[in-house]
Amino acid sequence: MIGPPGAGKGTQAAFLTQRFSIPHISTGDILRAERKRNTNLGRKAASYLDKGELVPDELMVEMIESRLGLDDARTGFILDGFPRTVPQAEALDAMLARLNRPLQAAIRLDLKDDDIVARLVERRVCPRCGRIYHLRNNPPSTDGICDTDGTRLYHRDDDQEATIRNRLKVYRTQTAPVIDYYDKQGLLITIPAHLTIDEVQKRIVTALREEAGTL
Ligand code: AMP
Repeated sequence: MIGPPGAGKGTQAAFLTQRFSIPHISTGDILRAERKRNTNLGRKAASYLDKGELVPDELMVEMIESRLGLDDARTGFILDGFPRTVPQAEALDAMLARLNRPLQAAIRLDLKDDDIVARLVERRVCPRCGRIYHLRNNPPSTDGICDTDGTRLYHRDDDQEATIRNRLKVYRTQTAPVIDYYDKQGLLITIPAHLTIDEVQKRIVTALREEAGTL
């Protein structure tokens, strides 16, 4: 899943993971968990996370390589937040070539900057299960509490306006070239992300069906 922060990658990936019974691998979630556990990687990533900048490619590639090696990823996976640079995309291709399992699709969620900021300032996340809410468009049934596990929701530190603007700049300069990279490989599926969650879901599934014929 490719797209700017707030385009709905996490929300849609959570749906796809159920629909196709394959794991949702969110590099942002993994990094936040590592940071919380104060691991070596978490400590190295912390300052980048705070500023909304990208964690260096070598760390990310190593992290994703070990994650894709776990058993649950053997029949497939949904990557959310990776690759975010062309060198990461190239490293992923090399990894998947070694495993003889080429990428099937790159789903790009497209959204305007003003819509992104409006979404992120009202985004709330469950720290336990990662479920994502929006105060108006997709609120929990009980104010501030996750519907799935009853945990108190939080507002990500990097979802404040100044950091969001920086993350968008980083996206436009470093991640946008990844879109061309997959377009050239004929793998790109672009979905307008301003539509409702359900509508985006339907369009993704339809596009994947057309792409693969068998899903
Ligand atoms: P996300 O939850 O996907 O918005 O990611 C949150 C933060 O984690 C980003 O702003 C980066 O600091 C870091 N991050 C996540 N994925 C990557 C990646 N593929 N490459 C570099 N940094 C990443």
